[in-house]
Amino acid sequence: MQTSKKYKTTCCYCGVGCGIVVTDTGNGRIHVEGDKDHPVNKGMLCSKGMNLHYTVNDKSDRLLYPQMRMNRSMPMQQVSWDAALERTAAIFKAFIAKYGPDSVGLYVSGQCLTEEYYLWNKLMKGFIGSNNIDTNSRLCMSSAVVAYKLSLGEDAVPVCYDDIEASDCILVEGANPTWCHPILWRRIEAHRAANPDLKIITVDPRRTQTATSSDLHLQLNPGTDVTLNYAIARVLIENNWIDNKFIVNHTDGFGEFRTKIFERTLDESALICGVSVKDIQKAAYWIAKAKGFLSMWTMGLNQSVIGVNKNLSLINLSLITGKIGKPGNGPFSLTGQPNAMGGREVGGLANMLASHRDILNPQHRAEMETFWGGTTISDKMGLTATEMFKGLESDKLKAIWIACTNPMVSLPDAKMAEMALKNARFVVVQDISNKADTIRFADVVLPAAAWTEKEGTMTNAERRVSYLHKVSEAPGETLPDAEIICRFAEKMGWGDKFSYKNFGEIYEEYTRTTAGTNIDVTGVSYDLLKQHTVQWPYPAKAAQSKGTPRLFEDHRFYTANQRAKIHAVSDENESEKTSEDFPLILLTGRIRDQWHTMTKTGRVNKLKQHIPVPFLEIHPNDARSRGIENEAVVEIKGKRGSVKVKARTTDEVKEGNCFLPMHWGRILDNDFGRANNLTNNLIDPKSKEPDFKYSAVEVVRY
Ligand code: SF4
Repeated sequence: MQTSKKYKTTCCYCGVGCGIVVTDTGNGRIHVEGDKDHPVNKGMLCSKGMNLHYTVNDKSDRLLYPQMRMNRSMPMQQVSWDAALERTAAIFKAFIAKYGPDSVGLYVSGQCLTEEYYLWNKLMKGFIGSNNIDTNSRLCMSSAVVAYKLSLGEDAVPVCYDDIEASDCILVEGANPTWCHPILWRRIEAHRAANPDLKIITVDPRRTQTATSSDLHLQLNPGTDVTLNYAIARVLIENNWIDNKFIVNHTDGFGEFRTKIFERTLDESALICGVSVKDIQKAAYWIAKAKGFLSMWTMGLNQSVIGVNKNLSLINLSLITGKIGKPGNGPFSLTGQPNAMGGREVGGLANMLASHRDILNPQHRAEMETFWGGTTISDKMGLTATEMFKGLESDKLKAIWIACTNPMVSLPDAKMAEMALKNARFVVVQDISNKADTIRFADVVLPAAAWTEKEGTMTNAERRVSYLHKVSEAPGETLPDAEIICRFAEKMGWGDKFSYKNFGEIYEEYTRTTAGTNIDVTGVSYDLLKQHTVQWPYPAKAAQSKGTPRLFEDHRFYTANQRAKIHAVSDENESEKTSEDFPLILLTGRIRDQWHTMTKTGRVNKLKQHIPVPFLEIHPNDARSRGIENEAVVEIKGKRGSVKVKARTTDEVKEGNCFLPMHWGRILDNDFGRANNLTNNLIDPKSKEPDFKYSAVEVVRY
């Protein structure tokens, strides 16, 4: 008789970080249900989480053994782990010897576990001697990281999910949590049911389900968020609905900010944003009267050429009203990936080192050099995600190792990314699926263990660290990513520095890098996390509690003078301009039941039923003037490529705008639905995050 066992773990999709109970049914299959004891989801799961077991039970597309080929015209051959890693190490060593350490790069993912993320960074920054390691989180929340650092002094999310239930005004800007963070939204809905006076304001160019569920929808023109936030700030200041005492005692920059926002009248701002003065005033009034004012945002603010400015302008609303550091209040960046926060903790971006240290800070480099046993860390900023692919295209970068991410679908200007991988001299792909779009460019393919087949930790959007149990054995010759990294390091000659008895030792090494920092987790261990999750900081001396739900309750921020900074940034949008040839603005985004590039959710029939094929939302007036009927096949043309999908005529988008989901890549040999054929490669100068949500296009009947 087969026995079933239950394990507690965390959902591997979005940054909400729901607790899941996995039942190993004893026949190589699993079953999932929401963890009723988990503080985040209290037993609830969204459609994606509820169907996770299908992605684990169906192993039909799994990579099962290492493969390589001596040139790209040859077929892949199954090889041993030793052969694959020895060849990779030999080629990396040859490039490093001839062209220097900056000739190689690693491109990793917000889905990596914290232990894996830490090891990748240790390997690249501490031992290879380059900072060319970046993550797909660069495409997701790097604008929020920079904005938190500039305003609060550190990339430290000040709030927690329990602040939802303590708030009475929630401003959702550039996010659609009903579809993209559904469990969070269910908590908001439950809070509203219990507190009918709760006001929800949504700022979005589209009339999303979140917008229709809100009390006020500010349907602004794309790219005008800074102007809108400044207009709201102006109303708050004009009516003295601000916290003067907090501003004087705990912030810098208010004078300059006040001057800046008074450069435009309310009427001018309303015209630029395409919203009414009355609605701006209503939003400001609700914010002012709220005892708990919570703002929430994701990609609508982050994925922009002015992403940092958009973030700063929103954070300013919390600072001028003093609505931060107390229950129900604060600016909340929601993360799209399950461990985007964990990656930031260990230095997973090209400009960072472990525990929120900066590459460009000599003292921070020296601390990590000592910690890693006398290595030398480069003082040069590494190449970021899009810069790495440009580097491959121009042959500045010779070799790239891509782990746990699908850049052929997720990077902007996908044709350029494809050209870059074609030009690359050496490509390693480490993945779980033989359907990954990068494999056709690979020289070496390494099969990785998947969710439930390895143990480790992740941190969700509210700084909550959780432990993920290993539930089942990995199939074939697949290995956990952390073990692959250690085996490769050994082939490079650093085996003694990457020798761990178990995964808990890797985590323990990371926690020691946090000692005395603002993200101190020296009190956290696998043993503790197997009992309960914790929110950082969690220093050893505080090990009796469950961590720190809310930051800055003493109003001492992490800047040098402990005062938050109110920034007076420009409100000009720097996106690609529309033209006679490309008069429409293309917005991209997610749909409810798919996640990222569909490598997992795309295999689940139940999830495909919601929206089975890509589509273009276009306003009826724009469709009519182009002779396009609902359901007609259209070609969306841009400067960089085109996409062919069916049109959906709807006034959910404004006239002059259109919307395409971002999930679809190539189907067979056709990239007809890949939104990133159209997106541009402009990036925010401060965060290097791409401008996914504003591209100039034309739409014609096909
Ligand atoms: Fe998973 Fe996010 Fe859904 Fe929770 S809300 S079940 S974390 S996808």
